[in-house]
Amino acid sequence: MQKLIDPFNRNITYLRVSVTDHCNYHCHYCRDEDHVINTTRNEIMSYEEIATVCRLFSELGVTKVRLTGGEPLLRKDILNLATKLGQIPMIDDIPISTNAHLLAPIANQLKAVGINRVNISIDSLDKKRFKQITRGGDLDKVIQGIDAAIAAGMTPIKLNMVVMRGINDDEIEAMVDFVIARNIDIRFIETMPIGTAGIDAVGHHYSESDILKRMHTHLPNRLLATHSKQTAGPAKNYSIKNSRSSVGIISAVSNNFCSNCNRVRLTAKGRLILCLGQENSISLRDAIRANMSDNEIKSMIISAINNKPERHEFNTNINNINNVQMVEIGG
Ligand code: SAM
Repeated sequence: MQKLIDPFNRNITYLRVSVTDHCNYHCHYCRDEDHVINTTRNEIMSYEEIATVCRLFSELGVTKVRLTGGEPLLRKDILNLATKLGQIPMIDDIPISTNAHLLAPIANQLKAVGINRVNISIDSLDKKRFKQITRGGDLDKVIQGIDAAIAAGMTPIKLNMVVMRGINDDEIEAMVDFVIARNIDIRFIETMPIGTAGIDAVGHHYSESDILKRMHTHLPNRLLATHSKQTAGPAKNYSIKNSRSSVGIISAVSNNFCSNCNRVRLTAKGRLILCLGQENSISLRDAIRANMSDNEIKSMIISAINNKPERHEFNTNINNINNVQMVEIGG
């Protein structure tokens, strides 16, 4: 089997697929207040096109495809896409990232079609604050979604909290207690300076070391660093003694973990983005619509991977801003 190895000897095995750039939430740090999505239906990749891209990637060694967005659960018949992807033999892991607003009614069905694990964004446990951060989100719905995922037997379930100084950093401990009570996991994410979203990522920066200090004080002698294959990824992970929960910290700003990067991203409009923090991309949608052969498209993918940037520059150039907003890239 051919592999996708980039010039920095990184093996690309993970594709993040944004299935829509629409979102029912409007989080401050993710997109501008006046950010309007006016994508037409024809611009968005069809499920057949997404499945084709995923199949071609799988023939090049990709085994994991994450569904993200925008909000993936907004896309009609998302179960059909999950089913199609589940039929691609080499893809053995199809997690989803969601804000969980629409998760409760569909959690069992997602599990049934092979979406075994889920990452859920939740930045506050205070209803009013949650509404402010998400510009209108409903915390009750999200907690119902989390509990439905637990009841459906999805595992692991990871909550993602973007920690912002002066906005929600006082909730780190409450969030940890929340996950311990539910036997699920939490990941704290440093705010990344992406797109032109209306958050001051520098002013609100809350560093990995500050988060860790707080965790050690809150859970004295209970945090154990873990380095298992299962936890491979950008997060530094800790298990919590006497609990089934774990904590991860994704410190894209304090640290540069690009040397282990194993992923690329497909936007809803079919652009293959090679690095979250850099702008170079190619259009796989246009290649499919131009009726290029599988081999021609695979060659395009291979040459794109040969141009994968070595690293993002969030920590050296905090103003390094993409024209695309996070809501379009999918996190
Ligand atoms: N709607 C889904 C959700 O809420 O998880 C998927 C898309 S969302 C863009 C994916 C992840 O990106 C979320 O966990 C979100 O918190 C994170 N994210 C968005 N903007 C970010 C930023 N500027 N810095 C750090 N994380 C960000």
